[in-house]
This record gives sequence, structure tokens and C-alpha cells, in this order.
Amino acid sequence: AKDVGKNTTRIFTRDLNTRIKRRMSLEESLRNAIKNEELEVYFQPKVDLRTGSMAGAEALVRWNHPDKGLIGPDEFIPLAEETGLIIPLGRWVLRNSCRTAKAWMNHGHQCMQISVNLSPKQFTQKDLPQMVGNTLSDTGLPPYALELELTENMVMQNVDEAINTMHRLSNLGIQLSLDDFGRGYSSLYYLKRFPMNELKIDRSFVDDIPSDPDNASIVNTIISMGRSLNLRVVAEGVETKEQLSFLKKNNCDQMQGYFFQAPIPALDLLRLLQRGKSL
Ligand code: C2E
Ligand code: CA
Ligand code: CA
Ligand code: CA
Repeated sequence: AKDVGKNTTRIFTRDLNTRIKRRMSLEESLRNAIKNEELEVYFQPKVDLRTGSMAGAEALVRWNHPDKGLIGPDEFIPLAEETGLIIPLGRWVLRNSCRTAKAWMNHGHQCMQISVNLSPKQFTQKDLPQMVGNTLSDTGLPPYALELELTENMVMQNVDEAINTMHRLSNLGIQLSLDDFGRGYSSLYYLKRFPMNELKIDRSFVDDIPSDPDNASIVNTIISMGRSLNLRVVAEGVETKEQLSFLKKNNCDQMQGYFFQAPIPALDLLRLLQRGKSL
């Protein structure tokens, strides 16, 4: 038993070493990725459930790694957040997304709103509202065409300060969305005080509706809550026509998910817009 313990320790140490090395090289190459333009923003349509047409798109960053291929954000956003690289990375994503949305507008697609995810560290940067304002004026995107996605846990860390930041952002004329709604612990009391425009129902609740009765009633509760607070409600992770018809029947405002379209490069999304793709 002792030997086994020793071996385990040795294996663990070796494992830890490789992990640390891998992490360090990942951090180094992520740093270069930002410089070398290896990052690319993909866009996933948000669809209006009444008209069936695209109302906007969410910006989702990807990393075109020279050796490893396309890497998803779950594999590098946490590292970027820990190391602070999220600040330049987030700034880059915002600028790129605003520029893209402006280009869609110039092609005659005036109604497309762009949604950009914020990380916790970005949200607490003192100059965030100023940075967002500068990005809007540099790219020429009208403020109403930009939405920022925050998560409940992000705004519940230090509520009073968060509400203050939300007001400063909202005063720019942009919109705010509460992402992954239902996973965190914001109360109705706070929800009422947040200057929000949108609630995004977390994907885990959209799973298996309507056959999962718990999820079905959670989704309906969120929809009516959103309605009474005057918020647009968006369901994400919609993969089937059963989910879609349930959401439509229960007056959800918008949907996003593979059923309509997975995230795609900006030019591919423009092509869908020009084709007039709808539900
Ligand atoms: P999120 O904000 O909740 O984004 C939705 C995720 O669900 C995306 O994963 C999207 O590709 C995926 N998705 C969309 N439709 C479906 C569907 O029908 N079924 C399933 N199973 N999944 C679907 P992705 O692109 O891998 O992004 C993961 C997370 O990474 C995002 O979750 C967001 O938290 C974060 N992220 C992505 N881009 C950025 C960014 O630019 N900045 C920051 N701070 N975070 C980002
Ligand atoms: Ca999001
Ligand atoms: Ca989400
Ligand atoms: Ca389930």
C-alpha cells in the first residue's frame, strides 16, 4: 500500500509538472495569439420568435491555433481571466464585434444587434464604460446596436458597485443582458434594481423541454418574470423543434441555438443575412 502511495505521489508530481509547463506555454502562446491575430470572433444568430428573422448575434471568440487547430473559449478564457490577458483580449473582441456589426449595417442590415460577453475582471475595470464609449465612437456603431452580456455572479460580487457600473454602461445608450440566468443567486429584489434589458435563460433549463416537467416550469417562470419586469427573454441552446415550439407557445421573445444556426465566421453570417434566412 505504501509503494502505491509513493507511486501515486510521483505520478502526481510529474503530472503537475507537465500541467504547469503546459499552462505556461499556453499562456505564452495566448499572449502571442493576441498579437499575431490568431483569434477570430464567430457569431451566432439570435432569432425573434414572432417574426422568425434574425434580431442580432452573439460574439463568441475562437482561437485558430497554428498547431492545435480551432480552440474553443472554454479552453482559454479561464486562463486569460487568471492571467489578466482577458483585458486586451476582451478589448479586441469588443472592437472586432463593433466593427463587424457596423459592416452589417452598411450592407443594409440595420436591425442586427451585437451581443458581447464580458468577463468578471473586465466588469470591474474602472475605465470599462469609457473604453466601451471610445470603441463605439471609433467604430461608428450606434450604441443601441450593442449589448453587453453579464452574469449574475459577476454582478452579485459587489452589488452596489455593480449597479453603478451598469448605470454608467446603460447611460451610453447600450443594452445589458443577464446571461446564464437561473444558475446564479440574484434575487428578485436586485433584478428589479438592475438596469437590464434582457434575461438569457441558461441552457441547462432549456434542455429537454417540454418533456422534463421541472425545466418546463422553470422556463415558464423565467418568461413570466421577465415579462413582468419588462425584460426581453432569450432562450439559449435550442436544438430541437420541440423546444422551439414550446418556447413560441409560451411567448419567449428570442431564441439562440444549433437548431437555427451554430456560431460561424462574420462573413458567413453576412451571407445568411443576405439570403434572408429565417425560422
Ligand atoms: P455562453 O456565453 O453561455 O455562450 C453560449 C455557448 O453555447 C457557446 O459556446 C455556444 O457556441 C454554445 N451553444 C450555442 N448554441 C448551442 C446549442 O444549441 N447547444 C449547445 N450544446 N451549445 C450551444 P462557446 O462558443 O464554446 O463559448 C463558451 C463560453 O465561453 C461562453 O458561454 C462564454 O461564457 C465564454 N466566451 C465566449 N466568447 C467570449 C468572449 O469574447 N469573452 C468572454 N469573457 N467570454 C467568452
Ligand atoms: Ca453569453
Ligand atoms: Ca449563456
Ligand atoms: Ca434534464
